[in-house]
Amino acid sequence: MTGEHLNRSMLVDTVILAAAPERKEDLQKLWAKCDPEVLIYPDESGIMLQAKGGRIEFSNRYMRATWLLGYCAWSALESYSPTLLFSSHVGLGVSDVLEQDDGFSDIRNRLEVLLDASRAIREGLDFWPDHVPQPQVDQQGLDPQQKVVFQITMIGTAYALLHEVGHLLSESADEDDISEEEIKCDVFARSFLTDKIGKYAEASGQDYAAITSLRAMGIALGAFVLGETTPSDAYAGAIDYPPLLQRLRALLLGMPLPENDKFWIFGSALLITLARLHEMALVSLDGTPKQVLERILEDLETRWCS
Ligand SMILES: [Zn+2]
Repeated sequence: MTGEHLNRSMLVDTVILAAAPERKEDLQKLWAKCDPEVLIYPDESGIMLQAKGGRIEFSNRYMRATWLLGYCAWSALESYSPTLLFSSHVGLGVSDVLEQDDGFSDIRNRLEVLLDASRAIREGLDFWPDHVPQPQVDQQGLDPQQKVVFQITMIGTAYALLHEVGHLLSESADEDDISEEEIKCDVFARSFLTDKIGKYAEASGQDYAAITSLRAMGIALGAFVLGETTPSDAYAGAIDYPPLLQRLRALLLGMPLPENDKFWIFGSALLITLARLHEMALVSLDGTPKQVLERILEDLETRWCS
C-alpha cells in the first residue's frame, strides 16, 4: 500500500497551531531538529497514525474516526455531567445515580450511534450519523456547540500528532526503552500544548484557566481516542508498550487545574463511557470531580492491568 505525500505545513502545522497558536516559533525550532515527511494512506489501510523512519503516516480513516469521537465525547458530557455535578445534592454518589439512569436513555442512544459509527469507520464501513457534520479544517458554518467540539478535537488531534513527533525525536536520540518512550512522547505532547498557555492568554486577552481547561479536555479526548482504538486485550501493556491506564494516569492527573474544574467532569464522563463500553459495573463513585476521576482510573487500572 503506498501513501501520498502531503505538505507538512498544510496538515501538521495547521492542526498544531490551531490547538496552540502561541507555539509558532517553537514549531519552527522543532522542524529544524526533525522535518518529517507526511504521508496519507488510502482508507483500505485501516485506521493508522504512526511515526517511523523520519515519516508521519496516517489514514483518512483515523481522522474521520477521531472527528466522530469528538462528537462522542460531547455526547458523553451531555449524558453524564448532570450526574457528576448534582448527585451530591440528592445525597447520592455518582455511581448510585448512574444505576438509576433510565431517564438518560435517549442521550445514551445517541452516544451509542456515534460510537458505532466510529467503529464502523475503523472496520471499513461507511456509516455517518446525520447530525454530525463532515470533517472540515476550520470552524466555518459550525454552530456554537460544534465550534467547541471542533476546538477540542483539534487539540486532541494535535496531541496525537505531537506524540508521533516525540517518537521521531527519540529516533534521532536512539532511545532504547520503547515502553518508557511512549510515556515520554505523551509528556512531550502535553507540555507542547500547555507550557506556554500564559503567553497565549496575554496576547489574546482570554482567561488563562479557561484556556488550560480546554487544552486539558482536548488532551483527554486524545486519551479517549487512544482507549477506543487500542484493542482491549492490549490494555495491560506488553514489553514494548506500557499499560493503557498508566498512560492515562500520567496524562490526565497531572493537569494543573482546581479540584472542581470542568475538565475533571469531562475526563470522568469519558472514563465512565469507556467503562460502560466494556460493560463494567461502576465502583462506588463520590467526591469532587477530580476525586471521581481518580477513583475511576484506579478501578479501571485494577481490572485491566493487574
Ligand atoms: Zn507512541
